[in-house]
Amino acid sequence: MKCKLCGQEKKLRNSHIIPEFFYKPMYDEKHRFNVIPLSEGQKLHFKQKGLREKLLCEDCEVQLSVYEKYVRSVFYGGTGIYITNGNPLKIEGIDYKKFKLFQLSLLYRAAVSSLDFFQNVALGPHLIKIRNMLLNENPGNKLDYPCFMVMILMEGNKILDGLIYPPQMMRVDAHRVYRFILGGCFWIYFVSSHTNQVVYTEFILDESGKVLIPLKKAEDTHFFRELAKNIVKFTKK
Ligand SMILES: [Zn+2]
Repeated sequence: MKCKLCGQEKKLRNSHIIPEFFYKPMYDEKHRFNVIPLSEGQKLHFKQKGLREKLLCEDCEVQLSVYEKYVRSVFYGGTGIYITNGNPLKIEGIDYKKFKLFQLSLLYRAAVSSLDFFQNVALGPHLIKIRNMLLNENPGNKLDYPCFMVMILMEGNKILDGLIYPPQMMRVDAHRVYRFILGGCFWIYFVSSHTNQVVYTEFILDESGKVLIPLKKAEDTHFFRELAKNIVKFTKK
């Protein structure tokens, strides 16, 4: 079978689309985010475990795992990462190349996956461009397929975690946008060829390794208000 990234005829691994660590509660022992995880009884049980598929060869898996390990370390307050609390959070010292390639690899995997969970992600002509960026380990500049991250807070400023939701396609201005929910954040990708017109660029990771991440209360988002209604409906059944 052909690997969905390098295109070579190789034995394929049972690849995950979303890295395992996003399924686990985000726990930051040093409370660098100034937020604490939900307690055991409060955890939301919408985890979609086992989103795996024969997708990539061993070599491509190894390449992507380097980015994943790095992103995991950022979420857990790794060395060289400086976080200034406040709203927005300011994070500095990020390895632009690894973090950006991770963001692109997540979008790419979702796009090439045949699982229903990712059916809304279709990148059209951008798929081959993103594939080439990954193959060449070229993260592009900050406005190439930028990803905005918004951290979601629950009551008591607890970070929402353990919730992974099917990506949605939306329109923002004239841009096609894909919204993922994982790791306690919205990951909002702008996929268009005119992303140089994207505004609020300070919220996009830049080449110097700095990003601002706004914190948003779940109840202030349309998405979570709707989700809450559906939960109520669901549990009444
Ligand atoms: Zn491969």
